[in-house]
Amino acid sequence: MENTITDRLKALTTLQVLDSKLDEIHRLRGSLPEEVSDLEDDLEGFETRKRRIEEEIKSLNNDIKERKARIEEFSGQIKKYEEQQMNVKNNREFDALRKEIEYANLEILTSEKKIRQYQDQIEQKKELLEQTTLQVDDKKRELEEKKKELEVIISDTMAEEEKLNKRIEAAAKHVEARHLNGYRKIRQNMRNGLAVVSTDRLACGGCFSIIPPQMHIELKQRSRMIYCENCGRILVDESFFNEVEEEGLPA
Ligand SMILES: [Zn+2]
Repeated sequence: MENTITDRLKALTTLQVLDSKLDEIHRLRGSLPEEVSDLEDDLEGFETRKRRIEEEIKSLNNDIKERKARIEEFSGQIKKYEEQQMNVKNNREFDALRKEIEYANLEILTSEKKIRQYQDQIEQKKELLEQTTLQVDDKKRELEEKKKELEVIISDTMAEEEKLNKRIEAAAKHVEARHLNGYRKIRQNMRNGLAVVSTDRLACGGCFSIIPPQMHIELKQRSRMIYCENCGRILVDESFFNEVEEEGLPA
């Protein structure tokens, strides 16, 4: 546990140096992890579309099959009616059969028309399927490349990252929970991840706003926690960073 203000500031500075090293590794990976997950989403979308089109084609083919069966059924009926017409006893019976034949012919025409429509639809869907298949293949290739890139970077930096995480964990143990939470909250809010900064000439090393002279004296005295009035970062005397560097970071 921390003892004096100096210990606390030094522990926080150490933590900051380690965290900055970890940030650097993450910066190196850049947006690759996000790009990979975006590509995975895209690929899933295209694959879903492809499956849907394939199902639609299958269902249209089934419709054609049904229509063909109907045509065959009605053709059979027509043949039967024509045979019956040879043996009718009167005109009324003959006309009745003629009407049945007309109806069956109409049904056949309708089915033939439907089949042509279904075939047109299948042609269109096949074209769409071809395009979508190309898109799926493209995305797959792109994803593989990005994944490989990411794997190389991760394997290059993984050991270092693991080590850093352990050192950060160890360094954090030297800071009281409330100060640690404060530090982490500030870090989260800062785009460059810097929560502990030294002064740069007469300005805050984080936001570069001028620091009042009285604050400078207090920074040298190391007697209390000092926060930048402009950005809220923890300000420490430059010597802390020098000491941390000189003494070496905890392994
Ligand atoms: Zn500042």
